[in-house]
Amino acid sequence: IFEYAPAPESRDIANLKPNYRPFINGEFVDGNGEPLKTINPATEEVLAEVGTASVSDVDTAVKAARKAYTNVWSKMPGSERAKYLFRIARLIQERSRELAVLESLDNGKPIKESRDSDVPTAAAHFFYHAGWADKLDYAGLGPNPQPLGVAGQIIPWNFPLLMLAWKIAPALATGNTVVLKPAETTPLTALVFAEICQQAELPPGVVNILPGAGDIGQSIVEHGDVNKIAFTGSTDVGKLIQRQVAGTSKKLTLELGGKAANVVFDDAPLDQAVEGIVNGIFFNQGHVCCAGSRLLVQESVAEEVMEKLKYRVSTLRLGDPLDKNTDIGAINSAEQLSKIKGLVESGDTEGAHRWTSPCPVPERGFFFAPTVFSDVQQSMRIAREEIFGPVLSVLTFRTPDEAVTKANNTPYGLSAGIWTEKGSRILWMANQLRAGVVWANTFNRFDPAAPFGGYQESGFGREGGRTGLEAYLNV
Ligand code: NAD
Repeated sequence: IFEYAPAPESRDIANLKPNYRPFINGEFVDGNGEPLKTINPATEEVLAEVGTASVSDVDTAVKAARKAYTNVWSKMPGSERAKYLFRIARLIQERSRELAVLESLDNGKPIKESRDSDVPTAAAHFFYHAGWADKLDYAGLGPNPQPLGVAGQIIPWNFPLLMLAWKIAPALATGNTVVLKPAETTPLTALVFAEICQQAELPPGVVNILPGAGDIGQSIVEHGDVNKIAFTGSTDVGKLIQRQVAGTSKKLTLELGGKAANVVFDDAPLDQAVEGIVNGIFFNQGHVCCAGSRLLVQESVAEEVMEKLKYRVSTLRLGDPLDKNTDIGAINSAEQLSKIKGLVESGDTEGAHRWTSPCPVPERGFFFAPTVFSDVQQSMRIAREEIFGPVLSVLTFRTPDEAVTKANNTPYGLSAGIWTEKGSRILWMANQLRAGVVWANTFNRFDPAAPFGGYQESGFGREGGRTGLEAYLNV
């Protein structure tokens, strides 16, 4: 039976001052970068001023991570590392309310999602990887698995805490140390996570967190003493990083954009499928890399599905992210809102038919009503480009072959969904679809044991599961 190390005595969290500054070598420090203001996207008010890192702070953080790697973390038996990961997991649970509220304030996502999905899944990731830390020799990855060294990790704003967990948990379990940069619009939960590292008495330097903009990400990528880069974000920045890493000995994994097809056959239980379509595109305001943003529906049921879908979407409540009845919160930034509006306008100009939910939209804050485009052609921008917002493009097909061809007609390949009663068709489709994740009769399900990652322009490498460990080990 594994002996759980007790967490250090819980500190009085109410009296903790927010530490919205870079976290280097186990301490919060005044970074040398320009402070940035993070905005509550639901009110457009300043939420917090955050100290940022400079290029010289990146170097200090990498040095701290190297020292911790060489002297402490890589030498520690896996069973000891596991204890820290278990502690972190339990501290995330202990502070889950605070984390959920902060995530909703900073990101704009509905509290019921941060409370029931983001935060518990982040804790689950640490529990799961704690379980691997002392079993790497049995993971079947090859003899004598060794950590890589210092991992540079860069994450986006759509699941700030969860993306951090996806990155940090496997890196620490496998014996690497970390320098992580959160996205500039959502740095707050990463800094509470830094407090959690202190509470867990994680050795200084094992985790370093550097708030800042893209230039700080770039200097992490370019730093000569970083052994691995793990990036989640846009395909454009991913390609840039790939070019920067080329010719160095750094290992690289990229989790990039998507334009997933959600394929509904005429034998599917349609009410259930409609729930899955709604979850697929409107979960987290559609700020989801694997969002089911292209609905492919079989012609014979297209009309019925559209009718049910519009009815269901018109019942979604849009508004205050902190109201637990809210289904759709705020768009994360003014910039993202204008990107969504631009792509929606292109749908109008290119001749698709737009339907918008009649739900009331708050005047202040960055909100966008759920939108469904029908009569969409594959050549239109709304069928090809990632919108990353609550906008669904509906296309039709007649035969399973046509469904596969249309689903695969994208440069991306992160995920796909299939709705049918036929088990044989599910297996056939799953083999034909060029996507890293295929859901059948469900959508947007995540489990730390299931590897997640893309084909083609959605990136390479997997996060989660046994396969995810490979990205952080040499054998
Ligand atoms: P982004 O690429 O603009 O930014 C991502 C991160 O990279 C941020 O922290 C940013 O500061 C940093 N960055 C920017 N320029 C950089 C540079 N030159 N070098 C290093 N770092 C740099 O993406 P975003 O708008 O924050 O996130 C949305 C994108 O992320 C979408 O395309 C979405 O599909 C993708 N995403 C993918 C996954 C996945 O698992 N595949 C998960 C979530 C989001």
